[in-house]
Formats: sequence, structure tokens, C-alpha cells
Amino acid sequence: MTLAERARRVIPGGVNSGQRSIPGLTDLVIARTEGSRFWDTTGREFTDYHAAFGPPLLGHNDPDVAAAVSAARASIGLTGVAVTEGEVTLAEQLVELVPSMEKVLLTSTGSEATFHALRLARAATGRRLVVKFQGCYHGWHDSVSLNVISAPERVGRPDPTSAGILPEVLAATLVLRFNDVAAVRQAFADHGPDIAAVILEPVPHNVGALLPTDAFLRALREECTKAGSVLVFDEVITGFRHALGGYQSLAGVTPDLTTLGKAIANGAPVGAIGGRADLMDLFSSRPGGPVFFAGTYNGHPDVVAAALATVRKLREEPVHEHVFRLGDRVRAGLAELYRTLDVPAVVTGYGSVFVSYFMSGPQPRSYDDLLANDTALFVGYRRRLVDQGVFELPLNLKRSHLSYAHTDADVDRLLEATETAVRHTL
Ligand code: PLP
Repeated sequence: MTLAERARRVIPGGVNSGQRSIPGLTDLVIARTEGSRFWDTTGREFTDYHAAFGPPLLGHNDPDVAAAVSAARASIGLTGVAVTEGEVTLAEQLVELVPSMEKVLLTSTGSEATFHALRLARAATGRRLVVKFQGCYHGWHDSVSLNVISAPERVGRPDPTSAGILPEVLAATLVLRFNDVAAVRQAFADHGPDIAAVILEPVPHNVGALLPTDAFLRALREECTKAGSVLVFDEVITGFRHALGGYQSLAGVTPDLTTLGKAIANGAPVGAIGGRADLMDLFSSRPGGPVFFAGTYNGHPDVVAAALATVRKLREEPVHEHVFRLGDRVRAGLAELYRTLDVPAVVTGYGSVFVSYFMSGPQPRSYDDLLANDTALFVGYRRRLVDQGVFELPLNLKRSHLSYAHTDADVDRLLEATETAVRHTL
């Protein structure tokens, strides 16, 4: 029996996260990662642009991060009492770097961070409603488990990503169109006094890349301030990847709360929630409350060491310069390739993130625009990329990532392999 078959006998679906079950690739078993590569148990090598949905900005198994984790493990391990020096230093650095963060708490995942952000917003405002946007993903918990990648007929109405969510929970989340200023103004006109929070990915990367307009981000800030609602930027993908200060530092719009995860520890299991001190202090104004916050592994020494090593490297080495330059090369190279092949495509992304939508028209601004994407071509060419040892996730609308470990030679190979893959899929 193969490892994958053994996995399916004892692990539901054979994998430990819903989106790791990839049609056509269910026999893939991972053996090792390093830099821009991973290897499966049969010895096949892949150049990795999927990057585990985003954490390894420095590359897989970065040696400096690995050394810092080993040192922490040798000296601290897990105590679960009080605080450690590393947690203090990391919090100080996050507060210094991220404009909205006056205080910050660590979690083990991004989902926990967004969960706590929404609970905190509801506690602080005494209100019920949360606003999210079609196409944004904020984790697996009930308030936000809806309307991410929806079938066309499900857009515009509640589209839960899971069975088992109470209808009243779904009814407490309003789903709006990303970049739609008029819809935001209308929602606040209709429900302002009931809106506890507005949560968004400032760049919705869970459907590739929808770039926000300045007007949209400013309107969100304005309406939340006017109505006393809490504006939450979910920077679990964009935080550190696009800038050490998050996308908010580039956009010049400061939310009330920010969630981080993924790239801030380069692959160690991390999340963070931070923001206005008056809000964050509700987690601690009496022991355990008034807003309860706990977690056995919050601030785990391995994770803190990984995050501190990541911050150090991002500050000391030209990581962003490198990944932004490669990102520009990839986007320009892909756009040129599709022109040559006469394939209607929109190549977009930001910095180290890139995606090709197979459709014509301008830069997409909302999920509706992406309904024109040719799904068969999108998934089909990526399957053929994987066959060539170039791993971009063969699932509709998924973005790809570059890391500090990718090279110009990797980009040359990516462009070559993409040409072959698209030609064979057409
Ligand atoms: N928020 C965003 C924007 C994400 O992309 C994700 C995960 O993909 C999450 C939150 C949830 O993070 P985690 O998977 O660490 O729970």
C-alpha cells in the first residue's frame, strides 16, 4: 500500500487541511523542502510557487530561521508560565513596524487572530453585524466561513463554505462587493449602528489578487470612524510579504485592528492580532477578560524565535527588493507570453505574488470580474506545469508566490514551462 493510500485509511481525505486535497495530485506525498524547492517521496523535485499558501517568504527551511529555532529549543522549550524575553522583543518590533499596532497578542494561526478580532469588535461595540467581502478568506471560523470562492449563482447571497454553521451566525455577516464604495456607504446607511466590524484582506489574495482602490480603503476608514465600527485589516498574507509594515503602510490607511500570520514567522505556526491600545486592553483589564484570550501555544518559543529571525533578515537583507524585482519579471514575462500566444489573459499580483486570469478586460476589481476566468485553462495549464516540476497550485484562482530563495534562472524556467503548459492546454 502506498503512503497516500495509508493516509486515506486513517486521515479523512488523506490530508490535514481541506485545500491540500488536490484533484489529480492525491498521490503526492511530501518528503523534504529547501529554498525554492520541495521533493516528494518518489524523489521528484518541484520548484515551488505555491509556497504552502504563503509563509516561506525567505524560502523553505531558511537556514537562519532554522538555526534560531534550534537555539530557542535548546535553551527554552515550552514553559506555559509568564512571558519570555523573545515575546517582549517581538511585540516591540511589531508595534514599531505596523502602523495600526499599539499593542499585540500572538496566536498560533491566522484563523485564531481573525476570530479574536471579531469577538473583540463585538465586545467593544456591543453590536452584532460583521461586514466581509466576496472573495476574502479569513479562516475557518463560523462568522467568516462564507462567500470566498462562490459559484456564479451563489454570489449575492450567503454561501457558507461549510455545513454545520448556525443560520443566525451566517445572518450576522453582511457580504459586500470588494472595491464597491457605493455598497459600503449603503450598508452603513442601512445598518451602521449595528455594524461591529468590517474585515477585509486589503489585497484579496485568496482569489489571486484584487488590487484595492484608494477610494475604497478611504471610504471604509471614513464609514467605520463615523459609525464607531472597528476596521480590521486581515494582513495574514500581505503582512511582511508586501512590506514589514503590512499593506497598510503602503496604502496609508490605518485600520483599528490588524491580523498577521504566515510570512511573519516564515513557516512556523503563528498568528497575531494587534491594534488600538484601548481595544486591545479589553483582553486584559481583569485577569482573563473582559474579552477572553488564551492558547497553550501562544508565543511558543520556537515560533517567536522564527519570527524574530525573519524580521531580522527582512530588515538586514534586500529581501523585498529581490522578490519585487522577480515578481515584476514574472508578470511582464507572462503578459508577453500570452500576447505572443494570442491568449486572452490578465496578469496581475503585487510584489512577490502573481496570478494569470484567462479572460480579457481590465484589471479585475471585484470577485464578479473573476467569473469570466477560463477555469479549465487556469487549472489545466497548472496541472501541466506540475508535470514539468513547476508547482503552481492547480486550483481555480489560486495565487502563486516568489521567495528570496527563487532565482532569475527559476523565473526563466517558469516562463518556459508556462509556455509549454499553456500551448498543450489550449
Ligand atoms: N486570513 C487570511 C487572509 C488567510 O489567507 C488565511 C489562510 O489562508 C487565514 C486568515 C487563516 O490563517 P490560518 O490558516 O493560519 O488559520
